Formats: sequence, structure tokens, C-alpha cells
Amino acid sequence: MLIRTNTLAIALALACVLTANATPANEKPHKAKHDPSHWSYEGETGPSHWGDMKSEFNLCRDGKQQSPINISEVYSHELEPLQFQYRDSKTNIQNNGHTIQLNYDPGSFLVIGNDRYQLLQFHFHTPSEEAIGGQRYPMVAHLVHKNEAGQLAVIAVLLNQGSYAQSMLAQFWDKFPKNPNETRSYDDIRYNINDLLPSNKKYWTFMGSLTTPPCSEGVRWLVLKTPQTLSAAQIARFEREFPMNARPIQSLQQRAILESN
Ligand SMILES: [Zn+2]
Repeated sequence: MLIRTNTLAIALALACVLTANATPANEKPHKAKHDPSHWSYEGETGPSHWGDMKSEFNLCRDGKQQSPINISEVYSHELEPLQFQYRDSKTNIQNNGHTIQLNYDPGSFLVIGNDRYQLLQFHFHTPSEEAIGGQRYPMVAHLVHKNEAGQLAVIAVLLNQGSYAQSMLAQFWDKFPKNPNETRSYDDIRYNINDLLPSNKKYWTFMGSLTTPPCSEGVRWLVLKTPQTLSAAQIARFEREFPMNARPIQSLQQRAILESN
């Protein structure tokens, strides 16, 4: 394992040297500047332009159930409990150019009443995309699930700064792939996303959208009310890769937010 790590480190160092040689230090690499699908979180490819970049992204501008939202006025309701049937997964970690995403092994499910969704992946935003009473948290984890009909359900775990490192995340937090679209697999690092969930599983729920282009709607959002913590160093490590990757708050329009009591 040590040899493999060293080889990897050397390969990475070489890749960095090659990149450094190819791009003058004072010039940001902008290879896909004119690719209309190359959206970002700032400037002319930022969120206020997503809906105009290509027709497939029009919902980002015209949608009526867009995410993220500010959670303020809520209706207390008898909601079905969330059942997390998560198994261990190997570590498959991806830099998709917009966030760090962990692809999860098949066979883990979120069950809500008669609905069963398979966990596909989870990823992070900083700050949290969701605001609670107008306040955003330092980070959020989005756990993305899909049922057999292709409908999405996303669990949001709000992440606050605490005194200690989050131990599950610590297993792969120093292994972020540096380059966009780079993926790394570690079959010997196994974890269970259950370890990121708070013990109190009460939640807010509403219908919304993907928070990234194409901003598709019909997404069932479930925001856990109890935040979890990670260390300042862990937050800083993520921010070093993605300093800001949260879409602005969207209008609630005709939607109601339900709160489990
Ligand atoms: Zn997300």
C-alpha cells in the first residue's frame, strides 16, 4: 500500500509539473470557456445565467419548484419516518468539477412508507445551499437517491463547525482527486454513510429541483433538522478545492414546507 501511495504521489507530482508547464502561472486554465454546458458559480457562467446558457437549462430560469430554498414558515405534520437501510460501501471518490462526489455501492436504500429509493451518491456544498431561518450552515451533504420510476429523493445533512473531525469523512477527506473529472477508487477503505446521520431523524420536506443545471424538478427534498459537525480543518480542506459551490436561494412560490413532529 505504501508503494502504491508513493507511486500515486509521484504520478500526481508529475501531473502537476506537466500542468504547470502547460499553463503560465498567471493564466487560469479556461479550456471550456465557450462550452455552453460549462456552468459555474460565478461570473458570466454563474447561477443567474444558467437558464440562458442552453435550452436544456431553461428550468433554472423558468421553473416554479426550484431549489435550494430558505426554510422558515413550516407546517407541522404527521410525516412517515425515514428508514435508512444503508450498507457499507467501498470508497469511490470523484471530482466532477463542481463538487467532491462519493459514488456509493449498489444495495443501500432509503424507505419512506411504500417508497423505496436507492442511494446513488452523495456530495457536498459550501456553504449549505439550504438556509434555515435565513441562515446558511458552513456545509451540507446531499445524499442522492432514485426509485425504480426514476424519481429522485435527496437527504440533506447540514454540517456545522465543531471541535472534532468527523471520523467517517476523515477516512477519505485527504484523498480528493485534484483534477476535474478525476475519480479514485479505494477498495480497502470501507465506510457506512449511516455514520454521517444524526440520531434524531426528524426532517423538513418539500418538492424541489436539482440545484445544478439542468435544474430538473420533481425532486423530493428531505432536510434533516439536526445538524452534524466536522472540524474547521475539514471545512477548510473542502473549501480549498471548492471555495463556494452553493446556488442562491430560490423563491418558494406556491410550495409548502412540512415538518415532521
Ligand atoms: Zn447538491
